Amino acid sequence: MPKLGTKAVKEFNANRQQQRDRVPADLVEIWELRMSKAEDLVRWRVRLDCGCVKELLLHGDMHSPLEVVWPSSILTDGDLQLGEIEHVHKGTTDSYRETIEWGESRTVDRPADAVEPPHYLSGEPDFWAKTRHPEPRTIALWSATLECGHHTEVPVEDVDWRPSDGPVITLTDEERQSRLPDFDQLVAEASTESLRVIYEHVRRMVAAGLPEPAPERRCGTCRYAHRVVSCEPNGWLVPSTPLKKPKATTPSRASLKKKLKDAEATASNLRKQLAELDDGQMPAT
Ligand SMILES: [Zn+2]
Ligand SMILES: [Zn+2]
Repeated sequence: MPKLGTKAVKEFNANRQQQRDRVPADLVEIWELRMSKAEDLVRWRVRLDCGCVKELLLHGDMHSPLEVVWPSSILTDGDLQLGEIEHVHKGTTDSYRETIEWGESRTVDRPADAVEPPHYLSGEPDFWAKTRHPEPRTIALWSATLECGHHTEVPVEDVDWRPSDGPVITLTDEERQSRLPDFDQLVAEASTESLRVIYEHVRRMVAAGLPEPAPERRCGTCRYAHRVVSCEPNGWLVPSTPLKKPKATTPSRASLKKKLKDAEATASNLRKQLAELDDGQMPAT
């Protein structure tokens, strides 16, 4: 149900104040300049591809939710696609997507994987034993565009590998055949949908001879990126405010891109500051 105007304003202002209280004193001024006030915002009712209906608040200068590129958040690996918004839909699992384009690479040192499985594989010690890396190593991280249009970084064990080399098969036919039954069993007996998706991915890679880098990668953004199916403006957040109306003209691509770039830089900076605050790592000033 859409909220009544006054309730929505109160909620917005309470949230805004909460966020403001967490901003370090020397950043409050710039935060105030960048963050919208209730009077600037238009309410939009948005229907998503999962069937949920949400209310979005957009700056009155923006045309519609379909024309906003939402930047990455702590939930996602990268920016959303045009026409998508971040939304947590219960029961959605991760998706594995093929890489369609490679970007830049960097090398990173990785410690040996712990003997104990990570939290999400806590009940699966055998699977972890088969996939963990027991030694420290240096790997390459390649930025990649996935088939869904989202971006991620793909770890590649061979630091000399280049995209022009293509995926390198690392299993012999015998190894492939001998390992597949184990993964067939894991898939068949997966206790949750999330685990089944992970096992099916590993099984596909084993069946393909464990190509390095793996041609498909978990997209950390798809899970939270939902396409806007339809949307309609629902008036200004503060109804008595303006004579101005939401703009009916489409802003130029260049001005949108500039606006987005500015907003991303600010959001990234603030997010970092807030994350540091949350971690209790912000030095006392
Ligand atoms: Zn939903
Ligand atoms: Zn994706």
